[in-house]
Amino acid sequence: MEILEFIPVESVLDIYDINGNLVKQGDEVVTSIILHNDSTESLSTFEGKKKLFLHFRKERDVVFMKKCKDLYAKKDPLLSCEACGFSFQKAYGDIGKSFIEGHHTKPISGLTRETKISIDDIKMVCSNCHSMIHSKYPCYTIEEIKKLITENLSNVR
Ligand SMILES: [Zn+2]
Ligand SMILES: [Zn+2]
Repeated sequence: MEILEFIPVESVLDIYDINGNLVKQGDEVVTSIILHNDSTESLSTFEGKKKLFLHFRKERDVVFMKKCKDLYAKKDPLLSCEACGFSFQKAYGDIGKSFIEGHHTKPISGLTRETKISIDDIKMVCSNCHSMIHSKYPCYTIEEIKKLITENLSNVR
């Protein structure tokens, strides 16, 4: 049975900078999602997608992420991944300069419009680690990914 649903998504939280100033007001978006049948399995997939959608939308806040990146660059000019230590600049030279992804660590279920996002909630990670972090829902923590890397790489050697 095919069900078509339009889901209003209360999205994107107001974004604050580290001093608590409003950088960008959250807005509301409507998305449509098609469920291909009404089994429980599909419903959980759908839930995951909706949550992932919210997560990625939040991570795309350009202004806030840029601030986070700039602050991180002051600590670590090579922008090393906080999980595996990989640096795009170190590996790829100039084309990798200033390349890193911001991952938001707060569980999506706990987020509301009023939730303040602070730089402490953002982890800077390489694209590989970021994909692995999101390979399950709720996603892996940085610590879990670090542990996996250590365990698995030590098995290889
Ligand atoms: Zn990494
Ligand atoms: Zn992420």
